[in-house]
Amino acid sequence: MTAQGEHATSTTAADVARRNWAGNVRYAARAFHRPTSVDELRRLVAGSSRIRAVGSGHSFNRFGDTDGDLVTLAGLPPVVDLDRERGQVTVSGAMRYGDLARHLHTQGYALANLASLPHISLAGAVATATHGSGQTHGNLASAVAGLELVTADGDLLRVDRDADTFAGMVVGLGALGLVTRVTLDVVPTFELRQYVRLDLDREALDEALGSAYSVSVFTDFRSSRLREVWRKQVADQPPPQADWLGTTAADAPRHPVLGMPVENCTPQLGEPGPWHERLPHFKLGFTPSSGDELQSEYHVARTDAADALAALDDVADLIAPVLLVSELRTVAADELWLSPNHQRDSFVLHFTWVDDTAAVLPVVAQVEERLAPFAPRPHWGKVFVTDPAELAARYPRHADFAALLRHLDPTGTFRTELLDRYFPR
Ligand SMILES: Cc1cc2nc3c(=O)[nH]c(=O)nc-3n(C[C@H](O)[C@H](O)[C@H](O)COP(=O)(O)OP(=O)(O)OC[C@H]3O[C@@H](n4cnc5c(N)ncnc54)[C@H](O)[C@@H]3O)c2cc1C
Repeated sequence: MTAQGEHATSTTAADVARRNWAGNVRYAARAFHRPTSVDELRRLVAGSSRIRAVGSGHSFNRFGDTDGDLVTLAGLPPVVDLDRERGQVTVSGAMRYGDLARHLHTQGYALANLASLPHISLAGAVATATHGSGQTHGNLASAVAGLELVTADGDLLRVDRDADTFAGMVVGLGALGLVTRVTLDVVPTFELRQYVRLDLDREALDEALGSAYSVSVFTDFRSSRLREVWRKQVADQPPPQADWLGTTAADAPRHPVLGMPVENCTPQLGEPGPWHERLPHFKLGFTPSSGDELQSEYHVARTDAADALAALDDVADLIAPVLLVSELRTVAADELWLSPNHQRDSFVLHFTWVDDTAAVLPVVAQVEERLAPFAPRPHWGKVFVTDPAELAARYPRHADFAALLRHLDPTGTFRTELLDRYFPR
């Protein structure tokens, strides 16, 4: 049974997207909802047998795709509550990172890291362990100090870092409850400069990745050399020398996908600016990435970076024709049960594919086969085909999360087909 009546016919329900940003998932929900108060949301959940939240819809798979009720929390009253003494901010789960970032900066604060795009919602990004780059920075979920969520029976549950199961709840895949508020650690605001360097030798990859606050390396698998290094360095660090690691300096702004408009990208060429206008690759008011695309991503141990990349050489001629761009990043280890960075400093291989599922899926399977010796953990929000038993074996706390699911959602209110596949009841 799905919730009926005023919610299902609400005029604002028309504001809920019917498909994801990439367009490869058309949501199967029978009813769409946009409640305007937490009490309305609680009634909706309590009266629904199957319900999920959608954030900004930037995921590429069906973990969040229910055939019951789909709800956006964007209509709830916005909350931004900065606690300077604790160094934390409590924010509506539906708020976009970019909007929070602007606000924090005006108050003299920052988040330690951001993803490549600022358009994503806090709750949606945290649920899938979205990350940026930087070998000393954890993923975005690792900055979460507390959550408020509506659980399957419609109760409002608040948890913080002291709770026994907190580490299991943060990267919750949207399956433990609908997150109304997120509390995040903040740091003093800071400035960065972004430099793009061209044509990196693979031998220098490790040094390049560790060379600045946040580093992304872009490649296209058409050459053994790496096309671009995006160095986001603290503003008072000296610029890279003219012959830095044998690269040359880009003399004009770049877009990660060749041929796409550079106006969409955050300022480069060493121009100093606030953290939230340098850490993402893309500007808030513009289309991130290419738009017509799919994405996959795999986290392996940082120490396996060179070997994992080399393992893909055999399939480079399969990858290149369906690839728009590949990005290599680092993420620091954390303790969150379903984090791809769980107890493992990580090297991350990202693939932005062409928008052609049929052509891409066989290549994804090949990539996974080559990376298998490195126990890759796929991004929870992207396209992957990993065998459920293999995936379970890559997460030491998989069984604990499955138990938490049964405990918090015994009747499967937040269950979806894909969730059932990876966490059988
Ligand atoms: C152009 C582009 C660039 C990207 N760059 C990066 C990157 O740099 N790094 C990276 O790691 N990822 C990246 N991603 C992936 C993206 O960050 C994740 O897929 C993220 O989950 C998207 O957040 P969202 O708000 O759109 O969530 P959605 O896709 O809307 O939802 C994701 C999951 O969260 C659940 N959810 C959403 N809101 C709530 C809520 N309030 N309560 C409970 N569950 C909820 C949903 O049910 C679903 O299961 C990128 C995606 C795109 C399209």
